[in-house]
Amino acid sequence: LMQLSVPLNFIGFIYREIRQGLTDIEQMFDLLDVPQEISDRPGAPDLVPGQGAIRFEDVRFSYDASRPILKGISFEVPPGKTVAIVGPSGAGKSTISRLLFRFYDIQEGRITIDGQDVRHVTQKSLRAAIGMVPQDTVLFNDTIAYNIRYGRVDATDEDVRKAADLAQISGFIGQLPDGYKAMVGERGLKLSGGEKQRVAIARTILKAPPILILDEATSALDTHTEQEIQSALDLVSQGRTTLVIAHRLSTVIGADEIIVLKEGLIAERGTHRALLDAGGLYAAMWDRQREATEAEERLRRARETD
Ligand code: ADP
Ligand code: MG
Repeated sequence: LMQLSVPLNFIGFIYREIRQGLTDIEQMFDLLDVPQEISDRPGAPDLVPGQGAIRFEDVRFSYDASRPILKGISFEVPPGKTVAIVGPSGAGKSTISRLLFRFYDIQEGRITIDGQDVRHVTQKSLRAAIGMVPQDTVLFNDTIAYNIRYGRVDATDEDVRKAADLAQISGFIGQLPDGYKAMVGERGLKLSGGEKQRVAIARTILKAPPILILDEATSALDTHTEQEIQSALDLVSQGRTTLVIAHRLSTVIGADEIIVLKEGLIAERGTHRALLDAGGLYAAMWDRQREATEAEERLRRARETD
């Protein structure tokens, strides 16, 4: 029995290690995609979080040398402000969030958080300062409480409940036969995209990071769910430096600055109002989305009257 229990313990150990090593952000990106050569400099200090100022200075980046992805990107997200990045698919929007996490090193330029180059601080401290609400949250095969508490493992039951409330998922949990003890994930209850996203929001509320990245779901959520999620997101992003990668332009109207990315360059930037007045790429995207939304509404109304 001794002989058997050793390897079993060992497997348990590995399993727990792996599980702890996964952060909510890492789940979002394909783990196999993350190059292993990114490592801390010898003796690298931890990031000293300040108010959460993000700066990209003339950032140039390519995954492989033959194809530049970002061709000189500069922008700033001042402490507590919200900057939205929009643009066609493949423009490099998600790449920007990967670079902020230093999943890759850039070829030229500088990315700083509170004046500290992301390459000069420990990756652990860097990632601890950033909260991510990904497009598609992966849930652990565990209870819903576990999945929320993942944002801060020492959170009390009361903290978990409060976070669930703020994320507007507590009503849903209340209806489950086992409540917070309900098993979710692949082998448990399957949650909808909107429900999973709210679990991710609850996690992030518990984590309370100074910096937030929101990568919006591309999949069309129904308008009601979208509004619920939006109000939960507005709550978390209050007072935090926020970078929103937006697909639904309706959610960027209030951003302090909107950056329109196209083929690795900033094509336009400004507030919603200014960009509409400019009548360029953003204005065209806005018109297209409004037409799509109106068509959707007409379809829905037609169905309802059937
Ligand atoms: P967006 O989020 O704007 O749709 P991405 O930042 O995901 O775009 O991708 C920008 C470009 O980089 C795309 O052409 C994509 O195919 C390419 N790309 C993304 N990830 C990788 C990778 N790991 N290796 C090589 N190319 C990649
Ligand atoms: Mg993307």
